[in-house]
Amino acid sequence: HSTCSKLLLLFSVSSGGLVAYAESQAESERHGFELSQLVSKRKRVLVLGTGWAGTSFLKYLDNSLYDVQVVSPRNYFAFTPLLPSVTCGTVEARSIVEPIRNMIKKKNGEIKFWEAECLKIDATSKRVFCRSNLDENLVGNNDFFLDYDYLIIAVGAQVNTFNTPGVVEYCYFLKEVEDAQKIRRSVIDCFEKAVLPGLSEEERRTNLHFVIVGGGPTGVEFAAELHDFVHSDLVKLYPSVKDLVNITVIQSGDHILNTFDERISSFAERKFKRDGIEVLTGSRVESVSDNFLTMKMKSTGEVFSIPHGMVVWSTGVGARPVVKDFMEQIGQGSRRVLATDEWLRVKGFQDVYALGDCATVDQRKVMEDILTIFKSADEDNSGTLSIEEFHDVIEDVLVRYPQVELYLKSKHMPDVTHLLKDAEGNARLEVDYEEFKLALSLVDAQTKSLPATAQVAAQQGEYLSRCFNLRKQCENNPEGPRRFRASGRHQFLPFRYQHLGQFATLGGDQAAAELPGDWVSVGHSTQWLWYSVYASKQVSWRTRFLVVSDWTRRYIFGRDSSRI
Ligand code: FAD
Repeated sequence: HSTCSKLLLLFSVSSGGLVAYAESQAESERHGFELSQLVSKRKRVLVLGTGWAGTSFLKYLDNSLYDVQVVSPRNYFAFTPLLPSVTCGTVEARSIVEPIRNMIKKKNGEIKFWEAECLKIDATSKRVFCRSNLDENLVGNNDFFLDYDYLIIAVGAQVNTFNTPGVVEYCYFLKEVEDAQKIRRSVIDCFEKAVLPGLSEEERRTNLHFVIVGGGPTGVEFAAELHDFVHSDLVKLYPSVKDLVNITVIQSGDHILNTFDERISSFAERKFKRDGIEVLTGSRVESVSDNFLTMKMKSTGEVFSIPHGMVVWSTGVGARPVVKDFMEQIGQGSRRVLATDEWLRVKGFQDVYALGDCATVDQRKVMEDILTIFKSADEDNSGTLSIEEFHDVIEDVLVRYPQVELYLKSKHMPDVTHLLKDAEGNARLEVDYEEFKLALSLVDAQTKSLPATAQVAAQQGEYLSRCFNLRKQCENNPEGPRRFRASGRHQFLPFRYQHLGQFATLGGDQAAAELPGDWVSVGHSTQWLWYSVYASKQVSWRTRFLVVSDWTRRYIFGRDSSRI
């Protein structure tokens, strides 16, 4: 009996165990299934680019919500505001870059990175075609494609040569880390060539004529760095040619740094004059050859050539080929960069976003949009609105265009409404649309497109990732003005840029800063502010340490003039 009961017990235990095992097996299979379903249910977000916009998006994104993939031909992020310092060795190239895989590691490694260039975007089939730029001799195919649910285009821009003959062949650019390294080597080459025996003084002078085309912040900062490099370090090493060096900045506008406050631009011009940097304003470069540059004075039409040893071209940016191709496909071929709405969606697409230098928020239709809001409230087309309807409309307008608020309150705003009474004696407002249209055209003119800066790109990346993080919540609880709830158009507030100011270094340990509130500061103390801001803005403690130690090294030992 006891054996029997023991057997029974064993059986029940083992069968229980078996059942439990089978159940747990089923459970884990179910969980596995659910997990794989969950994984496959996560929408695929594909980010193109690892610059300011792309990395800022990745930094703030809750990547547990999405299946995130990143494609970029660079496996690092570059801190571009310090690129001019790399051209002369004030800061080393490796000090301003952060490996993208380090950044991914901080996000629990859940983001997939592919080092490749996106060659084509097919938004209809939601697919991008890529090619890896890795060594062709390595085994395996370099071409592949990726499918997405959401595409984030953050590929930046490329140098704009305005099709000027000879620029691609004979000029240096300052856009990428490699460009800065090439410039550094070339500056040293010019000096080494100038001191070779057997050269005439004229030849030495030509080799040491450095021309910078473009008087924007990049051109000006490079000119200032070069001046410091030459006068603090190179003249001691190449004393025989120290009086033959010339630096010229050519600017098509009337002033250098013309996007800055005029107090800064005139300070920079005066400083350059004292330093012996020649500034040629109102001149346009017509062509560049190996030793000459031809330019035209805009005022007189006079054309003349100047000899040069080296030309750095820094006159603004244009769309990259993949963006140009995409713009052609979607009917934006005539534009300079991709147009998006204020939610950073490429016009006409719900799932393609573009941010940073490759896009601009198209705000030219402010007026049209505001009129549409008004007219949609005026359902019976009577030209009048009830007071409540009018308030609703204003609320909608302000959500979309907060900048209009100041204007609506300003003295420039004519009275576009007249108080009426309807048949029942209720107050109504008659809206004079023509008057209103005229009044708002001022707002349109004031709504300039955003500058192509790291500040804009980073803020857009952060804004978009926060929208992505809230997407589910917003789908369940649509927010925003009543009028747009049905269409879901206003899931999120539109992107608003907050300008935090801008800096330009002017050499000799002096800088200029334009800060919010019309606050302008120039000189040595501003340079210290610049040091602290740029040290604090570094993306990691590693690069912060490297950059600060490079600055210290430069103070103690000067810049390194070896050509490696
Ligand atoms: P980028 O930072 O250029 O990044 C683009 C990314 O896309 C890169 O990772 C690139 O490799 C990748 N990419 C390119 N092509 C493809 C492709 N086909 N497929 C996939 N990926 C691709 N701004 C400021 O606010 N303050 C400053 O002081 C300042 N100084 C500057 C100094 C210099 C010398 C330069 C060049 C720029 C400076 N800027 C400054 C401007 C700032 O760098 C840009 O506005 C900013 O980099 C734009 O960010 P982005 O993400 O759009 O593009």
